[in-house]
Amino acid sequence: MSVPNFVPVLAEQRSLAGAGQAGTYGVYIHVPFCVRKCSYCSFYSVPESGEWFDLYVNAVHELIELEALSKWGLERRVETIFFGGGTPSVLAPKQLNHLLQQCGRVFGGTFEEMEISIEVNPATIDYDGLVRLRRGGFNRISIGVQSLDDGELERIGRLHTAADALATVSRARKAGFANLSLDLMYGLPGQGVASWQQTLDQALALKPDHLSMYELTIEPETPFFVLAGQGVLDLPGEDEVLTMMDYTRRTIEQSRLQRYEISNYARPGYECRHNVNYWNNGSYLGFGPGAVTCKSGRRITMLADVEQFCRHVRARQSVIVDEEELTTEERFRETVIMGLRMTGGVALNALETRFGINPIVYYGESLDHLMQQGLVEIHQGRLRLTGQGLLLANTVMSELV
Ligand code: SF4
Repeated sequence: MSVPNFVPVLAEQRSLAGAGQAGTYGVYIHVPFCVRKCSYCSFYSVPESGEWFDLYVNAVHELIELEALSKWGLERRVETIFFGGGTPSVLAPKQLNHLLQQCGRVFGGTFEEMEISIEVNPATIDYDGLVRLRRGGFNRISIGVQSLDDGELERIGRLHTAADALATVSRARKAGFANLSLDLMYGLPGQGVASWQQTLDQALALKPDHLSMYELTIEPETPFFVLAGQGVLDLPGEDEVLTMMDYTRRTIEQSRLQRYEISNYARPGYECRHNVNYWNNGSYLGFGPGAVTCKSGRRITMLADVEQFCRHVRARQSVIVDEEELTTEERFRETVIMGLRMTGGVALNALETRFGINPIVYYGESLDHLMQQGLVEIHQGRLRLTGQGLLLANTVMSELV
């Protein structure tokens, strides 16, 4: 497979580079419920259980209220709010809007100027629900399509069909979502190259503003892990997966989308600002079971158990299970690793200004070696992965971590 050794710098790279700088932050609300567990998923989520919904919403509401007391956000501006999961759309629109209003009340800012995202799964929300979310202030929707082949969807344990996914996209547009993202997966059991091509072509025909595409990975403690161990999971071979990736690259080049991160593609101006802040190693506040907060280099993790989480908040006990202060050097390395995920890479002088560390001197021979191998390059003052480096990103990261 031929891979171009050149990655264009996006025209928007300047604004992407700006996200996550001091003074701004994102807010993440983790909704840990799913209708049922998909066979490959290792994220923390529990089967949908209506009895916990109100308790969960009250607990998150309360924690957001408490956050105001820390005053950390007072001199900072919230830029993005992201409701992820799990499956946020298992909650009623009224509950989701209630939490969003609480964010607005406590963190301030103007909803129209922010990026306010919600992840939904087809077959968990109808047109009326989408309209209510849009009117409530959500202005970006990310739909978990994964595949447009019913057999594949069934095999990975998804609830919806391809028709459900198409209907959700059309309803979301009609409900007024002008910023729409689709999630797709390749390398699925039983998936051939032709089937992936069909899914990708159909997905692009829907004219999404943003696409996230991930290769299936087999995670421990999932049903797929057990099946793979038994040798009965019919995964495509490495060559087939490489052909899928090559087709993806060539097809995207002909589309209105541009790759801006290893797994993410967007129309110019529609890059996910919330995730760009993560990749720039910016600050964010996370609320919900298992959510993580990163406040100016201090990382705080919340209890990943819905029941305990709700009980603790109700009893006014702490839900923090881990808190660590990263050293300047740790933050520097994380910023390099995460920033390299973006095709524009990381600005060398911005790194030095932010951390007082010169990346070229710091990485020395390791960096030279990666450059000689053609995996990374310096272009217009930015350190970035080459086309080959994007394919071998894990190798590069392990050298620099
Ligand atoms: S819907 Fe998403 S979070 Fe829920 S089980 Fe499936 S993959 Fe995991």
